[in-house]
Amino acid sequence: MTSEIDTVTPVDRNDDEPRRRYELEETGFMEVPARWRRFYRHWRGAGDSLAPNEVICPVCKVVIRSTRELRPGDKVYCMPCMSRMVIVVGEDGRLEAEVIF
Ligand SMILES: [Zn+2]
Repeated sequence: MTSEIDTVTPVDRNDDEPRRRYELEETGFMEVPARWRRFYRHWRGAGDSLAPNEVICPVCKVVIRSTRELRPGDKVYCMPCMSRMVIVVGEDGRLEAEVIF
């Protein structure tokens, strides 16, 4: 079960260091096929916040979720808008996703 979760996550990790793991639950995100839904959620706006395993897609503003905490250099795929991005440290020190082509 655990290894299957790893193979379906759209996040491509850049190292093998231990990371905090997260259980992802369905959030009612219907824009992608069922097996991928728990990897995405809608940003709820003011008052919402990102967990260490979440990042916002700068293109479509969907929240992308990983089964482990995100780190700079991780590559992330946003299925709803088909963007590929890499995790970087933003100006405020928080993790952001930067689109790569
Ligand atoms: Zn997107």
